[in-house]
Amino acid sequence: MSHRLRGSQTWEVRASALARKTHNVIREIVENLQVEPNPNKPLIALSIGDPTTFGNLNPPDQVLQAVRDSIELLKSRSYGPGKGHQDVREAVAEYCSHQGPVTPDDVILCSGCSHAIEMAVTVLADAGQNILVPRPGFLIYRTLSEGLGIEIKYYNLLPDQQWIVDLEDLENQIDDKTAAIVIINPSNPCGSVYSKEHLTEILDVASRNCVPIIADEIYEHMVFSGNEYHAISSLSTDVPVLSCGGITKRFLVPGWRMGWVIIHDRQKIFEKEVREGLNNMTTRILGPSTLVQRALPAILQLTPQSFFDEVLLFLESQAKLAYEALRRIPGLRPVMPQGAMYMMIQIKMSLFPQFKSELQFVERLMSEQSVFCLPGKCFAFPNYMRIVLTVPEDVLREACDRITVFCREHVASRDTLKEVDSNTVSVEPVDEVIFANKT
Ligand SMILES: *Cc1c(COP(=O)(O)O)cnc(C)c1O
Repeated sequence: MSHRLRGSQTWEVRASALARKTHNVIREIVENLQVEPNPNKPLIALSIGDPTTFGNLNPPDQVLQAVRDSIELLKSRSYGPGKGHQDVREAVAEYCSHQGPVTPDDVILCSGCSHAIEMAVTVLADAGQNILVPRPGFLIYRTLSEGLGIEIKYYNLLPDQQWIVDLEDLENQIDDKTAAIVIINPSNPCGSVYSKEHLTEILDVASRNCVPIIADEIYEHMVFSGNEYHAISSLSTDVPVLSCGGITKRFLVPGWRMGWVIIHDRQKIFEKEVREGLNNMTTRILGPSTLVQRALPAILQLTPQSFFDEVLLFLESQAKLAYEALRRIPGLRPVMPQGAMYMMIQIKMSLFPQFKSELQFVERLMSEQSVFCLPGKCFAFPNYMRIVLTVPEDVLREACDRITVFCREHVASRDTLKEVDSNTVSVEPVDEVIFANKT
């Protein structure tokens, strides 16, 4: 190799390894689908996890006014401290006091919850280490980790038990390279909400193995009647927890990009390095938007409870509507959510032998009925699809009607199934109830 004094004589500008290895999993899967809607039917996208898409769900005026007021404050233009303004962190500490004792020093403001997650993952894990994430689960963890050489390992959730964690599987996945366990509660995509007892069982696993927890609680408080939300940090006596949250989902303002990491560290395990590490990391973007920061105390303090109640009542009634409609459909098995804004639906693939996978199922549902649902593969969980519940009621009804027509047209007849059954070794047992409903 000759010694070069100057740059190359030809243009060869490469993207970094980080850039090349960073993938948006959902976008990639969706781009590879053949998803042209039927030109004769208006498209219904049940795929987009953004509650603002249809214009039917809006924040209350107090929230909008808070940002208007912030614009008028000339100081809302200035840089703030990396971890956020002190008075704003005080307001967040107060808002998060159900999570356990929280001081303003334990609060780091971030540019949305995904930035909070990035902070939590990257402060705990180095290249070569791994983090454990739920399957099915929201795959931003993969997007954020892969490019950095942080390995994603999955632990299973149990669909037949309201998606609780398979504790044995979780513990089996832990090795000496495990930097953190991620718990998403309430869950995207499952809509599950964990009981106090179950959260304690998860904490026991983490405690036995001395692994910290990253709690993705962006859907905190978004639980349906009969369920109770507990922050996992509020139950921990020893396991240190980084709670990631924000205003995106509960206040219906995803584009405002305001979130936070809350440090919960009863035994001062993070004192040695992690707390300082988080502080260091805040200097990478010089802190999140001060315009929204200045509005945040008012947003958190003045939003009326009735707004939250109404949104949740709507989401719960949508969940019931979809559940009642879809559970009658031959070949589908919806799992009733307990919170958040999604529903997972099992597609009994053995009853749709013409489709090779749930990907083909959602493709054909799109090309024939113009209804688009996200395939389970987007959450590392095949044979399921996810729908969002935030669409207007009449749209959801129409979507369920179209899904019904589609399934009736494609579910295998008894005779076909017998044939398939004799030709293949493993086919799910045929559920008689499904046929009873079909007629
Ligand atoms: C939407 C979502 C996020 C990201 O929230 P932002 O504040 O928009 O970055 C994080 N985790 C889960 C589980 C989500 O569903």
